[in-house]
Amino acid sequence: MEVLYIMSLEQRFWEIVEFILSKLNNKTNFASRLEIVTLEISEGSYTWGKLLKTKQDFTVKLNVKSSDPLEYAWFVTAHEIYHLLFESDNILNISDSCQSDCSYALTSIVRVDESGQTYGEGLQDMICDYLAIQTIHELYDIPVKRLTGMMRKKMLRPRGEYELTEELINLFSDKRFSIEDQLDDIEGNEASNLFMYTIVTGCMATFITSYDSYMGDGWWKKLCESFEAYFMLKNDRNPLKFIKLEFERFQQMQK
Ligand SMILES: [Zn+2]
Repeated sequence: MEVLYIMSLEQRFWEIVEFILSKLNNKTNFASRLEIVTLEISEGSYTWGKLLKTKQDFTVKLNVKSSDPLEYAWFVTAHEIYHLLFESDNILNISDSCQSDCSYALTSIVRVDESGQTYGEGLQDMICDYLAIQTIHELYDIPVKRLTGMMRKKMLRPRGEYELTEELINLFSDKRFSIEDQLDDIEGNEASNLFMYTIVTGCMATFITSYDSYMGDGWWKKLCESFEAYFMLKNDRNPLKFIKLEFERFQQMQK
């Protein structure tokens, strides 16, 4: 792989990290993880990324196929950096218990219930995709449509994933979410977007408890399981129909 190519990817990596840091008001654990993340690049027959965690730090491992469009590699890079949002700082890697569904956090969104069943993986990746697209669009002016198209084609993501994630995030605010604002924005004494705020500051149990107090115990978990089925393209249970009905029910409850 050419040195210039590697250098340009490294430069993008640091630009994305800097950009996300500039979007944080608070000195969050997320910010401190962003300050210690490093990059490792290799070449291969397809482009993929992975976030590796050691005792001391985090590494984004990026494998690129050099004939892929550059913005695709940038998108994959941003996606992996956003995975840092969900990492736990807890050494046992399990914390943050929530009574309403008897779950503990593996990462802030991926949780395990008392029977040992995990949930939240699909939603976690969808949020990483969503924020990565917003970031690459904002930083490098790549059209959202081009990025979602690449995601569908190269990563076999479900159609409408970006819009559905956006709809979920916007359920928890009167104002539409935009990456132009701070990720952990506060207005007065309240978080501008409760969902984003809890993700960034890492207190999902509080969020789930309040969601379940509206919707019923265990309903956040049910919603997450439907997101999982949607993300894994399991159409047998018609997850999209359930998700949309839950969105409607939530909006009704808010009135
Ligand atoms: Zn991922």
